[in-house]
Amino acid sequence: MQLSVPPLPNRSFNQSCEQLFDTHCHLDLPELAAELPAFLDSAIKAGVRRILVPAVEAARWPGLLQLQQQTTSLRLELALGIHPWWAQHATETQLDTLANMVRVEAGVCAVGEIGLDFVLVQEDEEATRKLHQWQQTLFSAQLALAAKAGKPVVLHHRKSQPALLAELKRQQFSQGGILHAFSGSTAQAHAFLDLGFKLGIGGTISYERAQKTRDTVRKLPLSALVVETDAPAMPLAGFQGQVNTPAQLALVFQQLCALRTESADRLGLALWQNSLAALHLPQ
Ligand SMILES: [Zn+2]
Repeated sequence: MQLSVPPLPNRSFNQSCEQLFDTHCHLDLPELAAELPAFLDSAIKAGVRRILVPAVEAARWPGLLQLQQQTTSLRLELALGIHPWWAQHATETQLDTLANMVRVEAGVCAVGEIGLDFVLVQEDEEATRKLHQWQQTLFSAQLALAAKAGKPVVLHHRKSQPALLAELKRQQFSQGGILHAFSGSTAQAHAFLDLGFKLGIGGTISYERAQKTRDTVRKLPLSALVVETDAPAMPLAGFQGQVNTPAQLALVFQQLCALRTESADRLGLALWQNSLAALHLPQ
């Protein structure tokens, strides 16, 4: 006779957290800005209590400071910087302005979103080489000004992890921060952890095809992880083609619960504390 075994509870659909920190959400981009109060409301209902908004270009820095002041329903943290996708419009003068703002604006906790994106190409090889060189110049300068101000950084990467690591080591950057949208192997993860970074875990882990990253996230020390939506980009599996929103952080959390062995409570608390530590915010 065969005994029937009760099915294991499906851990991926019943775990929640009342204190989530979305460490990467572009609230000022048009897709979210249009209906921001509604999106923030849904995020709060989903357990999101703090959001780090990383800037993408200089023209948006004053607006972000204003948004931070005006938002009272939850706490917004800011990273100011120039994203590699916006590198072409950036100027040396903006770097001076950034150095000053990072120093004097109390609401700015980090420099970001900065980094290198080697998937971006131009019409020919020479133009692409120049673009990547300019990205590198901007990244080096922003890293240096973060170090000078004693601020952590929020890093963007696409096919550029070795180049990011090389520059972090060359400058002996010691403020840490977050490697946003982590994907990769355990060895790749540890290369950044060794330099004092946390890894931003987002919707990628909801995709079956992301086996290597899911496996890495399963094995890493709990102290390595923070969560993010990268909204309005990076929709989770099942939501492709839709605008991603900060409320979806609850689903990222569920996915993480399904991969990890810790209880939801323990995981939620660690993620919150890791986020504060990575951004040098008081515990
Ligand atoms: Zn981003």
